[in-house]
Amino acid sequence: MSAAGLFRERYAAEPTGLWAAPGRVNLIGEHTDYNEGFVLPFALPQRTVAAVGPAPAGEWTVCSTAEEGDPVSFGTTAPGEVTGWAAYVAGVVWALQEAGFDVPGARIALDSDVPVGSGLSSSAALESSVLTALIDLGGLELPLEQRPALAQRAENVYVGAPTGIMDQSASIRCLAGRALFLDCRTYEVRQIPFDLAAEGLAILVINSNAPHQHVDGEYGARRKSCEEAARILGVPALRDVPFDGLAEALAKLDDDVMRRRVRHIVTEDQRVLDTVALLEQGRTKEVGPVLTAGHASMRDDFEITVPQVDVAVEAALSAGAYGARMTGGGFGGCVLALIDADRAPATTAAVEQAYSERGFKAPTCWIATAGEGATRL
Ligand code: ADP
Ligand code: MG
Repeated sequence: MSAAGLFRERYAAEPTGLWAAPGRVNLIGEHTDYNEGFVLPFALPQRTVAAVGPAPAGEWTVCSTAEEGDPVSFGTTAPGEVTGWAAYVAGVVWALQEAGFDVPGARIALDSDVPVGSGLSSSAALESSVLTALIDLGGLELPLEQRPALAQRAENVYVGAPTGIMDQSASIRCLAGRALFLDCRTYEVRQIPFDLAAEGLAILVINSNAPHQHVDGEYGARRKSCEEAARILGVPALRDVPFDGLAEALAKLDDDVMRRRVRHIVTEDQRVLDTVALLEQGRTKEVGPVLTAGHASMRDDFEITVPQVDVAVEAALSAGAYGARMTGGGFGGCVLALIDADRAPATTAAVEQAYSERGFKAPTCWIATAGEGATRL
């Protein structure tokens, strides 16, 4: 059922409007966001649609096609008071109020085709659709560049899920046919041409369908290790370790694990810059080896891959992909491969074959094109 259909069914009324915000794929730049470095995501065509209509002041009600049961209602709350999936919505209301806005009461019905929990950021799509709707309905003056941090605060503080600024930035600021080059320190962006179909190329997304395990704990551990390394190196964040000063920085660290974590972040920032330069010069195929190097770094230095994603990368490369890497925070999730568009069926078959030989649950593969960011429909 559509968001509008659900709205009519649950609230016996017509919504005022529909707002949509997409999930995202990160082309490159993994775990660099909380190190104040660079990322290069693009928005997916898959998105969350929020059908929204008015409610009395101080009252919010939300339901979702993904959740059975009655709509969830809440008034003004503090973090922890609304739990479960509705916390993402309550968190957005709370974060807007915290920033001093008079948030209009609303009834909200959600529908999404962003796969949940696959590293494609269904959570940011949800937050961004609701945030955009409430801003528009309330006539709130919140510039686009300040919106991602507010949605991030909803997720970090209200929901209690640690994430960087990338997901919400992608969902809110991406443009169709472009990848978003984001500086996670200054929030400056540059829209990078990313129309692969015009070059006969494509990004194949391979959802490993591997169960996510220990994600929050491992994420927290990586974050802590990076912060500790920055402290030892005497820099505000690992972003401040220059690529050509890497060897010197590593020599100052005693711990081998920490050295490898630092090496991933510093080389990954450089890979984002290299990818941006190649795309801007129209040398798209040459991005392939950069992606593959990024995967090796995540596998060997940052240690965030699982066998399913490693096998998908190897199978895609054996099938002739220009490059392939895990995308997203790790421990499951998706792989992306840069391929000739007409090689999609063969690449998919190669990955399926490799999974079946190892007894893995079958992967799900599709072509991802760069969609548009959050918008009123
Ligand atoms: P990801 O962002 O990678 O998809 P997360 O664990 O960050 O995974 O976010 C998934 C959570 O977001 C779900 O467990 C659910 O609580 C919430 N969520 C996402 N999409 C929806 C939806 N359409 N309806 C209700 N809740 C949703
Ligand atoms: Mg998420």
